This record gives sequence, structure tokens and C-alpha cells, in this order.
Amino acid sequence: MKTCGIDNCSKPVKARDLCSMHHQRLMRHGDPNTVMPRRTKKLVDCSWINCSSQAVSKGLCVKHYYINRVLKKNEQIDVR
Ligand SMILES: [Zn+2]
Ligand SMILES: [Zn+2]
Repeated sequence: MKTCGIDNCSKPVKARDLCSMHHQRLMRHGDPNTVMPRRTKKLVDCSWINCSSQAVSKGLCVKHYYINRVLKKNEQIDVR
């Protein structure tokens, strides 16, 4: 069986000497070697004052997310 004409690609040919993936790229971009830039997760800094750690959840870094959670818990206890 013929394989894709692109270097380092050994998938079976679908059309025009290209595998389905590279053929799709040819159709979309006019060039089978074009790779769409991967959508990377936006890196967000922690919103805590003076903290520049990478946020992991709700705009806070691991440490501050944890602190925030503990604070919220305490608040709930106070309300009761
Ligand atoms: Zn291919
Ligand atoms: Zn932080």
C-alpha cells in the first residue's frame, strides 16, 4: 500500500499521494506542511496581590487558590 508523500509520515495515501490528514491540510492551506498553531492555554498570572505565580483555577495559583478556599470556608462558618 502506498504511504503518504510527506516526510516522516507513513499513513496510507488517501488522495494526491497524501494521507487524509495531509490531504486535508493541502485543501485547507494549499500546503500539506502547514500546521495550524496549536491553541495553547492562555497563561494567566495569579490575581493575588504581589503574586506572579501561574494561575491554575479561578485566576489563582495553587497556593492562593487553597488559601482562598480556606478563607471562604471560614467565612461560611462565621455566618452560621
Ligand atoms: Zn501524511
Ligand atoms: Zn498566587
